[in-house]
Amino acid sequence: MHTEAARHFYTIPNWSTIPWMVAISSKPVIIQTMINHLSKTSKLDGILSWSLQAIETCAGSVGPDGKLVPACSGCYATTGCYNFKGTKQVRSDNKQAWKADGWVDTMVAALAKAKYFRWFDSGDIYSLGLAEKMYLVMQRTPHVKHWLPTRMAKFSKFKAILDRMQALPNVMVRFSSDAVDGTYTKGVHGSTILPNADEAPSDIFVCGAYQRNGKCDGCRACYDKTIPVIGYPAHGRKMAKVIRLAVATH
Ligand code: SF4
Repeated sequence: MHTEAARHFYTIPNWSTIPWMVAISSKPVIIQTMINHLSKTSKLDGILSWSLQAIETCAGSVGPDGKLVPACSGCYATTGCYNFKGTKQVRSDNKQAWKADGWVDTMVAALAKAKYFRWFDSGDIYSLGLAEKMYLVMQRTPHVKHWLPTRMAKFSKFKAILDRMQALPNVMVRFSSDAVDGTYTKGVHGSTILPNADEAPSDIFVCGAYQRNGKCDGCRACYDKTIPVIGYPAHGRKMAKVIRLAVATH
């Protein structure tokens, strides 16, 4: 689940531009370039993240009726700076990069000095192959606390790999509720969207970034395995409209 406000991106092409060369006549020509980008977001106190294009890689964003679920209808990652050409290119590059041999090694090296890592500022685990590689990165970086928000637990074929990730002591997988009214299923969901912070159920941790200009500012609750559910107060005009519609149709 992605609730953060639009933010500034610093993309770090952290590894290996791998030019794939092919000889045409006598002249080598680059036919494909794979670049893996990590993003550093100001909201997350500069913690690195790795992302893919929203919706396109989010199979769990679509409900049984074929429409976007409420939480994804107001997704911040489809608005503002996320529509910039450069931002989209980063996500497009990443979608190719993970398939390369050596991606796991390079991600592990890139996280050598990291303490925290956020998967999917936008996008989701659209492939079991990607999930397996992510697991290896998590397993080989025990010094890093990984936060993985996802909706892929809806699909039974992802259950085993997500369970293996969650079993790692340094990984918190948060299966996002589709709701925008603060509801969630205990024991299933690790996050939900709140219409406003004041109406949060008493047993969930309320993200306080809204009180800190949208910044985590030292909070690391999302990465914390001892905090089962986090409520993110809704923000943004798009999400506000989704909530108004949800309330109107109740
Ligand atoms: S709960 Fe804490 S760590 Fe998570 S997004 Fe909010 S401020 Fe950041």
